[in-house]
Amino acid sequence: MTNHDLPTREFLEVLISVLGPVKKSTIALHEPSIGQHEHQMVVECLSSGWVSSVGEFVTRFENQLSKITGAEHVIAVVNGTCALHLALHSVGIKPGDEVIVPSLSFVGTANAVAHCGATPHFADSDPVTLGLDPVALRKHLASATTKQGDDLVNTKTGQRIGAIVPMHTFGHPMQIEELVLVAKEFDLPIVEDAAESLGSYVGKKHTGTFGACGILSFNGNKTITTGGGGAILTNDESLAKKIRHLATTAKLAHEWEFMHDETAWNYRMPNLNAALGCAQLNRLEEFLYNKRNLANKYSIALKNSESLQFVSEPNETTSNYWLNTVRLVKPSLQIRNELLAASRAKGYLCRPAWNLLHQLPMYENSPRAELPVAQMLLSSLINVPSSANLGL
Ligand SMILES: *Cc1c(COP(=O)(O)O)cnc(C)c1O
Repeated sequence: MTNHDLPTREFLEVLISVLGPVKKSTIALHEPSIGQHEHQMVVECLSSGWVSSVGEFVTRFENQLSKITGAEHVIAVVNGTCALHLALHSVGIKPGDEVIVPSLSFVGTANAVAHCGATPHFADSDPVTLGLDPVALRKHLASATTKQGDDLVNTKTGQRIGAIVPMHTFGHPMQIEELVLVAKEFDLPIVEDAAESLGSYVGKKHTGTFGACGILSFNGNKTITTGGGGAILTNDESLAKKIRHLATTAKLAHEWEFMHDETAWNYRMPNLNAALGCAQLNRLEEFLYNKRNLANKYSIALKNSESLQFVSEPNETTSNYWLNTVRLVKPSLQIRNELLAASRAKGYLCRPAWNLLHQLPMYENSPRAELPVAQMLLSSLINVPSSANLGL
């Protein structure tokens, strides 16, 4: 037996004890739960004839989200990436700007920056929360930027830094309150990528509501789904107006005339998707309850492991446990890959964290801070099957 065998054996034992043996073909990483209720609401929408981007389900979905998140304004759009694009554009990100994003994130976070003609500027993560590290970011900004008039400028590139995009990784809230202080110090707006964290709170405040605005995603693999979809959350009324306007081709209200006052987007969520979303939101509590139950099972199963740890919600936060995560006590890309191969061979469709964004070909020349923690996390994190129905 090599010393590699221990984590692999422990990992498989945990999966079997929590999920049971794989009976049919595979156990997916994350599947939506679509039932009777979803069928009824979608049929109701079809019968109404209003399937496209005007309709009462869109308003209902937005109001439900507003109630759950506490955000005063919610604008439902076609996906999380375009939500982030529109949010960044609306807080003033322009071509040539740089935007701070974690290197450990889904590619959509950086793509949304690039869609503004701006450049992602990668920052490091915190080993506990897995999100942006506010302390490391403060140090980096203090040493790498200079103030020029109202602008914060990257001294090396000469480009303006326009915003910070923190992300709540796998649903676990990052240290957003600390980040708000850093953002104030450097006078930067925050656009929160809460794509993964519907149902996650810092204290009693929902993720995505701490900055100028925040975004959610309702892709098929997220906590709730609308097929594809996203939303922008904000408490700023004029920002909400602007975003709503830009998401609907910047069309001025008129009974028959097509007057548009700027180049804009067709990003509004169709009513048909919103109908599915309303049904899913009605079941959010049930999903969150089951996901927490599943997380507890993983946590208990991993309690006595020497080589593996369960990633729990950070202190004073409530995570939605969107994707449960196991961490190698001793980070090793090779052992991580062995665990992935061994579990997938048995039908448990585990997955690594995303390849770091600063190593993707389109972003390899982007500006960055030192990224030792992101690198370490990449070699130690594995997502394990997390569908809500597994926690029944
Ligand atoms: C899912 C996700 C997005 C994008 O959402 P889509 O709806 O798939 O466009 C953005 N950021 C993060 C961190 C995500 O996980």
